[in-house]
Amino acid sequence: MAVYAISGAATGIGAAIAGQLQQRGDRVISIDLRDADICADLATDEGCQQAIEGVRALAAQGLDGIIPCAGLGPSVKSPSLIARVNYFGATTLVEGLADVLVDGGVVAMIASNSAAMVQSSPYTEALIAGDEQTACELADAADPYSAYAGSKLALCGWMRRQCPELARRNIRINAVAPGIVATPLTDSVMSDPDLGQAMKDFAASVPLGKVAQPQQIADVVLFLLSTGASYMSGSVLFVDGGYDAVLRPDAI
Ligand code: NAD
Repeated sequence: MAVYAISGAATGIGAAIAGQLQQRGDRVISIDLRDADICADLATDEGCQQAIEGVRALAAQGLDGIIPCAGLGPSVKSPSLIARVNYFGATTLVEGLADVLVDGGVVAMIASNSAAMVQSSPYTEALIAGDEQTACELADAADPYSAYAGSKLALCGWMRRQCPELARRNIRINAVAPGIVATPLTDSVMSDPDLGQAMKDFAASVPLGKVAQPQQIADVVLFLLSTGASYMSGSVLFVDGGYDAVLRPDAI
């Protein structure tokens, strides 16, 4: 039985990943604002430390994997919360638990295909530099969509920078980049008066013709956790029904 720590496990994609792991007999240590083994607010330093200490206490034999899935969409009122949860909440969790990953351990980050729709910027650079104050100020000055997509671009950049150091300990780190997934996060964006129409247009133009179900993202995360992905590290897997291929046909 393997042991995985998953944030954002109460709903959506995180719940689907947790459910699949538990169904096959693995143990999940869940972190979320509520309905989790560890209830902690990953938007705050205290909450991140509470989550890290809580997981360490529950994983005495070490962790086989970490999946930092907690995240907020662009419909939140304060875009700096996106920077705090999507970037700092995720990276702080991995940094605080990396030393308890077992030999052969894995990390699967949850990015977004929106990461490929924005460029590197002072905001993403501040995130990667760990300058939380500047990143939050820039997020609040940006439009919510840019704050969201930038948080995921920076998350991929951070992930790729961790790859060599973790590989020295035989630990792999990768990311999935979902498109639109049927979750509470998407529901709240769809019903947002400013963002909803663009999200509906986006959903209508997905080549595979429909939004993903959380299980379809979980399937790919479970592949990244598996020995089937034993030679993969530093990769971003798009799981978006072909949307990125339409937007960026010449990118690899
Ligand atoms: P969701 O809202 O169903 O799940 C997000 C979870 O994160 C919730 O359980 C929520 O309580 C938790 N969370 C939020 N803020 C938190 C905080 N401060 N502290 C602790 N937990 C917190 O949404 P989802 O769609 O399943 O999103 C999961 C991940 O997938 C996110 O990182 C999101 O950015 C990413 N993603 C989602 C989509 C999509 O279309 N839904 C697309 C690409 C990427």
